[in-house]
Amino acid sequence: MNAIKTRRVNISRPAYPCPLCGELSKRHAHGHRSLREIGVDGPVLVEVTYSKHFCETCRKHFSVPMDHLAVPSGRFTNRVRWTAVDLVIKSAMTLDKAALRMRQKYFVNVPPTTIHDWVRDAMAAMRVTRAY
Ligand SMILES: [Zn+2]
Repeated sequence: MNAIKTRRVNISRPAYPCPLCGELSKRHAHGHRSLREIGVDGPVLVEVTYSKHFCETCRKHFSVPMDHLAVPSGRFTNRVRWTAVDLVIKSAMTLDKAALRMRQKYFVNVPPTTIHDWVRDAMAAMRVTRAY
């Protein structure tokens, strides 16, 4: 059993523009999030520190964006997602085989049902892209 390596990513900002009105809003708290990441020689966990802000104009709370790292409710990084989707779409693996490869080669446990959802979303996104 390989020890889990932790990578810390800090995307906290002292102030960030409100997504609704653009007003520069001060940080009022920090948030933390753990994401499973692709590993090369063992499991990797990314610990993200992000900032939470409050817009005085809109009276709304929001967090600094992290779409480049992961989807809002996801437990895995985008890299994990894209790698698994590629195994199914480009390498034509079954969901079970892709899950096995993710576990054996990249040290990430992704349930086949989760990979299924990712592939479905990716296919939907591709259809939308082609329509334009
Ligand atoms: Zn605002």
